[in-house]
Amino acid sequence: MNETIPFLDYSEEHRLVLPNFIEAASRIVLSGRFALGPEVEAFETDYAASCGAKHAVAVNSGTSALVVALLAAGVGQGEEVIVPAMTFVATATAVLAVGATPVLVDVSPETFCLDVDRLPPALSDRTRAILPVHLYGQLADMSGITLFAQQHGLTVIEDAAQSHGASRSGRKAGSFGDAGCFSFYPGKNLGGAGEGGMVVTNDTNLAARAAKLRDWGQSKKGEYGLPGSNYRMDALQAAFLNLKLPLLDEWNAARRAVASQYNERLYPILSVTSRPRVDETNVFHIYPVFHRHRDRIRSALAARGVVTNVHYPKALHQQPALRGYRIAGDLAVSEMVAKEQLSLPIFPTMSSQQVDRVCHELAAVVDA
Ligand SMILES: *Cc1c(COP(=O)(O)O)cnc(C)c1O
Repeated sequence: MNETIPFLDYSEEHRLVLPNFIEAASRIVLSGRFALGPEVEAFETDYAASCGAKHAVAVNSGTSALVVALLAAGVGQGEEVIVPAMTFVATATAVLAVGATPVLVDVSPETFCLDVDRLPPALSDRTRAILPVHLYGQLADMSGITLFAQQHGLTVIEDAAQSHGASRSGRKAGSFGDAGCFSFYPGKNLGGAGEGGMVVTNDTNLAARAAKLRDWGQSKKGEYGLPGSNYRMDALQAAFLNLKLPLLDEWNAARRAVASQYNERLYPILSVTSRPRVDETNVFHIYPVFHRHRDRIRSALAARGVVTNVHYPKALHQQPALRGYRIAGDLAVSEMVAKEQLSLPIFPTMSSQQVDRVCHELAAVVDA
């Protein structure tokens, strides 16, 4: 019996940082300082630097990062935010959480990120912001999006929850728009030992508002200048992430090496599939393939010990929670992705034998 290939395995990465984490955790537990504090401040400084952004505000999840960024930018009641229809549900529910309304547009068939050509029909006199997502680790067309935003006076908030470290011409994910939002959920490219998130920005005013909003809107001790909530990051999370951040670039490079091997090996097998480009604009949070018989292939792979996933099985307008919001144009690409997309195993410590094995099993089931 062949070994099972997991979808994701970060045990090797974590074994590496564990001794130092135990030491840091003891220090934090004995200090009694569990929320924010010096570990969180150090992580904010280093994370901002790693993104080439002036400020970073640490929060307790990627969803909180989106909510805090929208609130800090003043997005709210009566306003519309343009969101791609193919993304994790939090991108749109964060918009609802601040009292604004998502307007769904289709994604590009090349990048599976927000399609810039779909922006003009989405515009209304209530449009306030665009929320592009760097889906699967691949950067959206940020020059097209920011140009359109400038022409129409819109705020741009990037959902960079899947794209830590992705860059184009030296600029990093999260630093193109007015603010960038990251998640440190364990399965992300930079994952914590639990929940975490970050807002990065070059806008000093937005950063100051975000820092207050995550701490109940506190402007000075005992005084609440803004109506905020508790979105604070734990010191233990920051300590863990401080140890992992220096390894991010190396681990992203390892993901690219896995993606290259998939590209090479899968081309003859899935010749209809567009191969993702392997360059610095993609950090391969997900390695997606597409097939008309996705569900059959997925179960056949499972039977052969290869664990896969689907990102995502429904486009946002097909989710009961998001029915009835305005849709600009058709959402054909998003609907195709929901039907045909399959995420193959990918993680930094995946061996070339493991990649070979996935390709071998895929070849066996694809034409069965
Ligand atoms: C993971 C994710 C989020 C939410 O982050 P959490 O930390 O799980 O709250 C938001 N958007 C996208 C695209 C994500 O992948």
